[in-house]
Amino acid sequence: MSDLFDLDVQKARLSRRSQATHPDEPTLPPLTTLRAAESTLPDPNSAGYLSGGSQEDTVKHIVRDIIPALNGQGLSPHYYGFVTGGVLPIAEWADNVVSRMDQNVQVHLPDQTIATALEDATLKMIISLLRLGDAEAWKGRTFTTGATASNVLGLACGREALLAKRLGSGESTGELGLLGACLKAGVTEVQVLTSGGHSSLSKAASIVGLGRRSVKELRAGEDVPWRLDLVAFERELQKTGTLSIISISAGEVNTGRYGVNGVEEMRRVRELADKYGAWIHVDGAFGIFARALEAKPEYKVVREYAEGLELADSITVDGHKLLNVPYDCGMFFTKSPEVLQSAFVNPNAAYLASGSQASIPSPLNIGIENSRRFRALPAYAVLLSEGRSGISSLLSNMTDLCRRVAGFIQQSEHYELLPDEQAPLDEIFMIVLFRAKNKELNGVLVQKINDTRKIYVSETKWKGEKAVRIAVSNWMVNVSRDFDVISSTLNAVADGNGDD
Ligand SMILES: *Cc1c(COP(=O)(O)O)cnc(C)c1O
Repeated sequence: MSDLFDLDVQKARLSRRSQATHPDEPTLPPLTTLRAAESTLPDPNSAGYLSGGSQEDTVKHIVRDIIPALNGQGLSPHYYGFVTGGVLPIAEWADNVVSRMDQNVQVHLPDQTIATALEDATLKMIISLLRLGDAEAWKGRTFTTGATASNVLGLACGREALLAKRLGSGESTGELGLLGACLKAGVTEVQVLTSGGHSSLSKAASIVGLGRRSVKELRAGEDVPWRLDLVAFERELQKTGTLSIISISAGEVNTGRYGVNGVEEMRRVRELADKYGAWIHVDGAFGIFARALEAKPEYKVVREYAEGLELADSITVDGHKLLNVPYDCGMFFTKSPEVLQSAFVNPNAAYLASGSQASIPSPLNIGIENSRRFRALPAYAVLLSEGRSGISSLLSNMTDLCRRVAGFIQQSEHYELLPDEQAPLDEIFMIVLFRAKNKELNGVLVQKINDTRKIYVSETKWKGEKAVRIAVSNWMVNVSRDFDVISSTLNAVADGNGDD
């Protein structure tokens, strides 16, 4: 029926997983290529606009003009911008299967398709991989389009749960709306407390009606802005008429550090949340994967930082970052499936019912979308083929490369490691933050590094000054090869030879 389903035909594609070397793909296309590609895009004023063409010509156009004008985040192991992940060959294959089969995973129809059962099995594998405990404890679970969508679910659940408690008698925000529910419950404010919160948390707060301004940073100190100030946290919880959702950053996006530093602090957060009635959300987009590192001495510190996150009420996980599945893919977990359903139920559509005995809820009742892509399949393929040890070894490659780069920066006369030049390297997971000691160079550093086209990095700010962030998240990491590329590029840029 199809070459896509023929293992022999797919062998070459899958063999990329075990190749020791990867082609030296560019991190960014040349600007001239980009401009040329732009000029090939259809012009609404041209005579032939939308008049159709052959498939062959369309493919030729995309291969010749469009593909060379895409960035190298999927193909280059040296693209260290944002936290993009890469695509494992088996995930790419599975994603093509998803497109070919075009399942609409919105209603649980166990006698018609395996899709919802596979989706649920995949979510259980994630729970186990991340050591979140018994899958039964996380009965509210679903695939999302990414961490932003998962954060929307998390804040919606927090809002729903906290107001339901105040309202009593089965009333809900889902029915009444936020305004009606707050008026009825005598609530004057719903706030989102965090430290080093990701920008998408504010976006989520806006979407669920709390407003961006409801997000409050409670930072333990100027030098540790990612750490939650527990004293301020308790003070905020004591406000009358105010409901609080706490969002723990795991980890903070500039430094990779954690909002709480392990199980003791997490227990304290849980105690306070229970005492005052708050909802605990964990934004674990990439940082929660530290829990999947092997239990070796060199990973003890970061593993411990991520301990205790299972005490949360809800958790955001990204698939398209460290799991190396294609965009877009995220996961959401909550211990309160009724709350999730109360916020996201798609009511009164008889033709969408899956039967009341269903053990798996229909995804359209527990997430944002009705019609949904079968985005679980690539994650399933990765988890099944890599297993715990495959994934932990991918994660340790990312971590080891970051630590070697951080060590190099500590030794360098040109660069300064952030947030703390002296920080022990075992605090680092898969992000390195640094800047140039020379202010002039620092002002143009990201540009100079990215102009080399050898590696690609992101610009950020640290304590008001420009800084550079290297995030290692691609499965193609080869520690010694990539260390050589990064260190020689940084040396060349510092020596003024970056443009060679
Ligand atoms: C990347 C990231 C997000 C946003 O995730 P998307 O998948 O891009 O929507 C949210 N929180 C954290 C901590 C992140 O790293």
